[in-house]
Amino acid sequence: MNLIIFGPPGAGKGTQSDKIVENFNLFKLSAGDLLRKEIDEKTVIGEKIQSIVNAGKLVPDNIVNNLVEKIVSDSKYKNRIIFDGYPRNLEQAKILGSILKKNSQKIDLVISLKVSLDSIVKRITGRLVCSKCGNTYNEFFNPPPKKSDCCNNEFLKRRSDDSADIAKKRFQTYEQSTKPVLEYYKEAGLIKEISGENKIEEIYVKIVDFINFIRGWL
Ligand code: AMP
Repeated sequence: MNLIIFGPPGAGKGTQSDKIVENFNLFKLSAGDLLRKEIDEKTVIGEKIQSIVNAGKLVPDNIVNNLVEKIVSDSKYKNRIIFDGYPRNLEQAKILGSILKKNSQKIDLVISLKVSLDSIVKRITGRLVCSKCGNTYNEFFNPPPKKSDCCNNEFLKRRSDDSADIAKKRFQTYEQSTKPVLEYYKEAGLIKEISGENKIEEIYVKIVDFINFIRGWL
């Protein structure tokens, strides 16, 4: 089973996919994480894309598609990928279809999280990521544990593109380039929509229902 978790930046895609990965033994392919790794490791790709990511724009398709293809074609992830933040435009959606087909796979379900711009800005500007274990928190809605060897002040960081201004730019990019992807998967009959405004656990329970329903069909 391969899934896509879809929604605007700050919709909670990362938080929900981490929970899904844990409970369904899937692998999370986060395009943003792959790109940030290139930036942190100062690779040739990383140097090229840093300013694009920091401006809230989309990195060129060929760069992201190549990173994705490496993972999809690796047999240890076969039919157990949850795509987070990919595809982000129609071109990427079509390329993903052909990469999957080449590897005898397909998308089985697209979960779409709907969230308003107001909530997005609050979520993004409150986001804290533990640089040691990768856990994500929100200082307003989901604060980090008070006593922890790992997720404490020493390791908690804000992403460089998580300012209110860049969040609005990222939302515009979503509206212009990414939203059409929703129609594409609607036409394929793969979309299940959920309000992303509810509590993390409430959203997750609905997602689990959808996944179990789909698994019953596979
Ligand atoms: P995210 O971690 O998903 O919020 O992504 C952070 C940033 O990485 C985005 O604002 C884009 O600049 C870049 N990015 C992530 N995924 C993609 C993608 N599929 N295509 C192009 N750029 C991406």
